[in-house]
Amino acid sequence: MEPLIQSLITGKRVVILTGAGISAASGLPTFRDPAHLQAVQDTYGVTLETLLSYSFFYQHPEAFWAYFRQYLGLHAEPNAAHQACVDLESLGYEVTIVTQNIDGLHEAAGSSRVLALHGDLLHFYCSSCETWYDGTEPEFEADVPTCLTCQSNPRGQGLIRPNLVFYQEELPESPYWDAVQAIKEADVLIIAGTSLQVYPVAGLWQFFNGTCLALFNEGPTPLDNFVTVKELGKLEQSLPKLIQDLTFVLNSH
Ligand code: NAD
Repeated sequence: MEPLIQSLITGKRVVILTGAGISAASGLPTFRDPAHLQAVQDTYGVTLETLLSYSFFYQHPEAFWAYFRQYLGLHAEPNAAHQACVDLESLGYEVTIVTQNIDGLHEAAGSSRVLALHGDLLHFYCSSCETWYDGTEPEFEADVPTCLTCQSNPRGQGLIRPNLVFYQEELPESPYWDAVQAIKEADVLIIAGTSLQVYPVAGLWQFFNGTCLALFNEGPTPLDNFVTVKELGKLEQSLPKLIQDLTFVLNSH
């Protein structure tokens, strides 16, 4: 942890690149959790990757919405790791969160700059007329929500979809390039709770030119041998510990 603390004494621009592991303590399953993958296969007869793909959504919207209601209904609350990201801002750092997560928990915790590269599950829109929804409208009581504003409503049109990036879809350009820019300008890059398997996000670290690349994760990643600081273990413990140690050092300067 020492080189990271040293870099945080001199540098104020921090990017925290997060994945599903940061929300595990909030009760959300990580993507590669074997029990979760098996449960999806058993229930829906397809892999999670297929279930969350663009073509499958339009062929079997009922399966997606059933999965959504079972696992992604997002009654989760931010945990101590999300809070630690906010606390870093409170210490005067310019923090950009670049996240693969679609759960909105960084925003809920109070992080002020969040680039959600894979979209989110907090907003929805009509596939036909692009009317936006927040999921509380009467339309959402149907098994497969369809748009009432959009009158051209045979199946497949007027289908309401989540504001997430399905497999088979390109990442939206704006948050991705904003993330590249933030990483290029950062003094410190902390990668937290991601297995770094999903591209292009897994390659974002290559834009980093700052002083300390740190990896906080429980399991192995392809970057394990290439980072300055590697902190194994649970983020809900290690990130608050980082803030605690940093606060102590800053206060004694
Ligand atoms: P992943 O499941 O591939 O990897 C998660 C990583 O977090 C693993 O390496 C695991 O060892 C680590 N981890 C798990 N619990 C941890 C903890 N408590 N502390 C520290 N590390 C922990 O997830 P990914 O790399 O984010 O990629 C999965 C994709 O699926 C992403 O594209 C994301 O959009 C999506 N996804 C999002 C959510 C969410 O929004 N919460 C959940 C699952 C999947």
